[in-house]
Amino acid sequence: MPVSYKSKPTDKILVLCSFLEKRYGKVKFRTEDPFKVLISTIISQRNKDELTDKTFRRMSSVLNSPEDYARVDVKKLASLIKPSGFYNQKAKMIKRTARMIIDDFNGKVPRTREELMKLPGVGGKTADIVLSYGFGEKVIACDTHVIWISNALGLVDSKDPEKVRDRLMDITPDRYKRMLNLQMVEFGKEICQTSRPKCYMCELKYICKYYNNVYRKEHGE
Ligand code: SF4
Repeated sequence: MPVSYKSKPTDKILVLCSFLEKRYGKVKFRTEDPFKVLISTIISQRNKDELTDKTFRRMSSVLNSPEDYARVDVKKLASLIKPSGFYNQKAKMIKRTARMIIDDFNGKVPRTREELMKLPGVGGKTADIVLSYGFGEKVIACDTHVIWISNALGLVDSKDPEKVRDRLMDITPDRYKRMLNLQMVEFGKEICQTSRPKCYMCELKYICKYYNNVYRKEHGE
């Protein structure tokens, strides 16, 4: 039977993954130093990508290891993080994180989600980003784009990031997991925007719950 908006999420996710791969290509991943991934992800919270990259480059020219971050004066760290938002809070958080990595994890970024989430400023999304980009694990980082698109398509029925992430982890084939976040972010920026999805030009209409239950009626299609 052809896949439609009434099909099971396990069928729709295959259509979505292969559509995203065709549209945005296979993402080539390089695994980076987990500590660098962790620090840049904390800086990126509520920040624009360009600003995060610039800030992180500036910090990396002075600081590198957990020991460097644990030792540096918090005001100096805040001045390096500025003009990123919440620079004072982020400076304190990063120092505490570096200290905890040294004291509780022998100076190494922990490799499990549970341990990562014990670090200050690390929630589920940051933990998954570190696992994916720092350790090469097959996990799905769940942000606003992922949550919106997954609900719109009817893959999940929840706004809770942890529930969405767990459900997507269950239904997504391993080979697509690491790519899914990046590809969904691209798709979310280009077409399926949270505030105004461009359903009229979307190739996934036929499997989309939001399009068939809401958009069509609102737009008389
Ligand atoms: S049809 Fe609309 S809501 Fe559904 S995936 Fe496409 S852009 Fe998003």
